[in-house]
Amino acid sequence: MAIAGQRVSSRLVRDLAAEIGFQLAGVTPARQAPDFDRFRNWVDRGLAGEMRYLTDHRADVRSDLDHLLPGVKSVVSVAMMYGEADGEAGPAGIAQYAWGEDYHVVMQRGLEALATRLTEHAQFEWRACVDTAPILERSLARQAGLGWIGKNTCLINQDSGSFCLLAELLTTLEIETDPAFDAPPPDRCGTCTRCIDACPTQAIVPSHSGGFELDARLCISYFTIELRGPVPEEYRGAIGDNIFGCDICQDVCPWNKRHAIAVRSEPSAPLGEFSMLTKAEFRERFRHTAVNRAKYGGFLRNVAVAMGNSGREVYRQPLEQLANSEDEIVAAHARWGLAQLDSTAKPR
Ligand code: SF4
Repeated sequence: MAIAGQRVSSRLVRDLAAEIGFQLAGVTPARQAPDFDRFRNWVDRGLAGEMRYLTDHRADVRSDLDHLLPGVKSVVSVAMMYGEADGEAGPAGIAQYAWGEDYHVVMQRGLEALATRLTEHAQFEWRACVDTAPILERSLARQAGLGWIGKNTCLINQDSGSFCLLAELLTTLEIETDPAFDAPPPDRCGTCTRCIDACPTQAIVPSHSGGFELDARLCISYFTIELRGPVPEEYRGAIGDNIFGCDICQDVCPWNKRHAIAVRSEPSAPLGEFSMLTKAEFRERFRHTAVNRAKYGGFLRNVAVAMGNSGREVYRQPLEQLANSEDEIVAAHARWGLAQLDSTAKPR
């Protein structure tokens, strides 16, 4: 617990966070979790699909930060821009955040360093959350002044855009906030609807309570990362070349324009090579990246869909091989891919 009389300011927290490598940081008091009712309602209406970490008993844990750290008083929200987190570019078809070293490791190290530096000023208990605890992180980040939540449901910072990773440090320390920094900024989406118009599966839908929300069951990131079974056939074509996640609603966002142009000129993923990976090779190749989350079968399923969508004859032979897979879901998606080639085949 914090020792009486020991207080630190959010200014100190922001300075330390910047030294450690976080581009954005802010503080919010750990009162009732913002947006919980909206989240609960979204889950209750089934819009989270089969994502059990959102829908099971962990859904209600999000209602009160005290469930995660008894005596919690302040939340430090931090963000790291993708390019800074991984330092390398990867192929199109793989969401930018998954290109480099698993961001969980990088962010966890950063939060531990931040907590250590803060203990030079006060004693307190803390818990680092990097997708490791049920927490409404975008809402907390907005409260802490890091950005607003756009129509594409991403947190957007006016200067840095939305290609960022979020994490939180829960503390029993009462951190003095500064209303000039640690307060929600205005929503700057205005009349723009680019993300809504560009989404190939129309996953950004009007919310019954006003504004927009994500129907995760239609989101390409959900199909390619979270869904364990077959991808509904009517959406496979819209998935295009995305084999892990999707950045379309961020790529088109004017607040990301500069960043997106800088990094989205990468070559296509080597689908033929990916399709031939053994399970052991898949594990080895993606061991330190978020791509692991799709699991081997899900990854091959996604590669089969992307090869079919390419319409390229060069993928006929790899698809024929995947059609013999012992994994019936992979085989079925490969057969679908072959049927796509039959109907749309382009020259090699
Ligand atoms: Fe908001 Fe437009 Fe960006 Fe969508 S594309 S999040 S509407 S600014």
